Amino acid sequence: MTESTQEFFEEDTLVGVLTAEPLDRVLDYKAPEGGCWLGAYVQVPLGPRKVLGVVWAPGRGDWNPAKIRQVLKVLDVAPMRAEMREFLGRVGSYTLTPMSQMLRLATRAPGLADPPSMRKLYRIGYDTPDRMTDARTRVIAVLEEYGGQSFTLGELSDMAGVSSSVIKGLVKQGAVDEIDTPRDAPYLTLDPQRPGKELTAAQAAASARICEGISERVYGTTLLKGVTGSGKTEVYLEAVAETLRKGRQALVLLPEIALTSEFLTRVKQRFGAEPAEWHSGVTMTERRRCWRMVGQGGAQLVVGARSALYLPFRDLGLIVVDEEHDTSYKQEDGALYNARDMSVLRASLTDAQVVLASATPSLESWWNAESGKYTRIDLTDRFGPAVMPDMRAIDMRAEDLPGSRWISPSLHRAVESRMEKGEQALLFLNRRGYAPVTICRACGEQVGCDFCDARMVEHRFLKRLMCHQCGETKPMPEACPSCGVEGKMAPVGPGVERLAEEAAALFPNATQAVLSSDLFGSARALKARIAEIAEGETDIIIGTQLVAKGHNFPRLTLVGVIDADLGLQGSDLRAAERTFQLMRQVAGRAGRAERPGTALLQTFQPEHPVIRAILSGDEEGFWKAEAEERRATGMPPFGRLAGIVISAPEAAAAFDLGTHLARADAPIRAIDGQVFGPAPAPIARIRGRHRVRLLVKAPKGAPIQGALRQWLGGVKLPGNLRLSVDIDPQSFY
Ligand code: ADP
Ligand code: ZN
Repeated sequence: MTESTQEFFEEDTLVGVLTAEPLDRVLDYKAPEGGCWLGAYVQVPLGPRKVLGVVWAPGRGDWNPAKIRQVLKVLDVAPMRAEMREFLGRVGSYTLTPMSQMLRLATRAPGLADPPSMRKLYRIGYDTPDRMTDARTRVIAVLEEYGGQSFTLGELSDMAGVSSSVIKGLVKQGAVDEIDTPRDAPYLTLDPQRPGKELTAAQAAASARICEGISERVYGTTLLKGVTGSGKTEVYLEAVAETLRKGRQALVLLPEIALTSEFLTRVKQRFGAEPAEWHSGVTMTERRRCWRMVGQGGAQLVVGARSALYLPFRDLGLIVVDEEHDTSYKQEDGALYNARDMSVLRASLTDAQVVLASATPSLESWWNAESGKYTRIDLTDRFGPAVMPDMRAIDMRAEDLPGSRWISPSLHRAVESRMEKGEQALLFLNRRGYAPVTICRACGEQVGCDFCDARMVEHRFLKRLMCHQCGETKPMPEACPSCGVEGKMAPVGPGVERLAEEAAALFPNATQAVLSSDLFGSARALKARIAEIAEGETDIIIGTQLVAKGHNFPRLTLVGVIDADLGLQGSDLRAAERTFQLMRQVAGRAGRAERPGTALLQTFQPEHPVIRAILSGDEEGFWKAEAEERRATGMPPFGRLAGIVISAPEAAAAFDLGTHLARADAPIRAIDGQVFGPAPAPIARIRGRHRVRLLVKAPKGAPIQGALRQWLGGVKLPGNLRLSVDIDPQSFY
């Protein structure tokens, strides 16, 4: 939509401004000198402060006109588009998130109100240098190759492989121009005409189908299901190319920051330059640049984490959600939204295509494809010679293994045989730290967190006990905190650190690396480590969930899952689905190059239906069975859920409110819904706050948000109580 079709407010007319302050109402202001457009980002006075806002609607005029203040200034950024305002409104009402909070999500860039700062850029000049050197020739060649584009000193010296003094020398000679430009400069142009890899027939067919929707500029969602290594990324890069050719923007969401560097390299190979990035590892200046450039069209492709969905795209034509089943797409604090589902909403508002890529889709997406809401495309073969690994169970009931040891003789032998061949093995255990429990052998006391209803996990590298709920740590006690006996505290159960100790003893000649999120200070350190491992320096990789995600380890041919039963315990609705996805994914790490891989799953219940489905690879069978079970119990996607958590310093206060709500459930019953609880939440105390849960279940298609608003709308929360609502909860904690 161009500005001219939007509403314009003349100076002094009343406008309603939404701010990111927790007021939950659009406030009236007078339009500033020169007027403003609907959607303009503005700075307004609020009490003694100046705050950021967006002109959201005409003013309501129900406020004392004498008290209405004037908009201070209109920010120098493109106004928020009508489609974006609608998107924020829809997400807000779906997730019951106040609009102020939605606006905060959409303006997460620092210094939007500041005037643009400047920096120096370099581009080709008019004069010829007095004397050419190799280095100088390279600089000129780079600048000529990229036509009229300009670069920072760092970019140019990297690209030409010269020191900055060479460039400065050329500036003096007039062969290179130094220009002052706003810091928020456009990103380098991606060239979608560059040829991609030659696609296989299946890949080409998949990309053709997605590109059709892009050419026609219509909304559509495609579930792109393909085993790891089948070329899903190649296929969606083609869709990105088609989107860029149409002059529209593309967004690729990735679940894990550590993955971006690999992806950036692939984008650069494909399109000749890197895309814009948006995630927590990006500097504040870059965030601001990204936000502004997305809005002005100076960024064609953004690679980002879930919150990139709220960037002010000018013309978004494609959203790719890679590893769409990943739980990190569900924001679990602040606004509770699922970036996967909201991508579909956003795309439908801008006639864009969505690609949900996964080797192990979520049951919801699988069902949406099954029922015809999404198009499904399968890539069944790995690219090149790699084949899916051979998967087998190790029946732990038949293994001779002393307590406090976790690598069975069968797994031991398998690892040994890989070491002999110079291949890599991965031992997978989804538990951080040394031992999940520390117990006193004198009295049986288990060391818990002082603030949470959780046991403290020993982290031997850090030499401390840590609570995985709140992050609190304390030193390992010498004496039992309960009975006072000294020297009796003992670790129980394995974590990756303890497993590493066992592996070091069993394979003294092997080099090993532990990959666990808490062992790396920064995403950069983690990336560096992963690159080293991929190079093949390491014989045995010991890792948590972190290694399950997309990294390529070409020499890896064996995956040993230490405890395949781990995820099956617990009452979580998604326990089976998650275990299935995680095990298939971890196994997919093995045998990505020429050598075939094997995955061995240590289990005490090899006949468990989920373990059997994992081993047989009967994915459709697994999903059908899961879907049937959910249908029978009215669970998502065949019914709707909302989780309510009430927390308070005193358990009784939280329970009282829970009980009151459960009794006043008429609005929920009116939509044929049910309220369960109150009950203590599975983690009944976090950071010193007691937590009580209610679960609302309603039939599919029931207007659950309206009912919830009515039900909870009347609640007056005493100061120290908090209530949060989670629509479509992913986990119960
Ligand atoms: P996925 O995203 O499904 O895991 P990728 O797209 O990463 O798969 O492909 C796996 C590997 O195979 C990558 O190194 C990729 O470059 C390579 N590859 C896939 N398809 C092709 C192709 N048609 N031509 C050349 N290499 C390919
Ligand atoms: Zn804690």
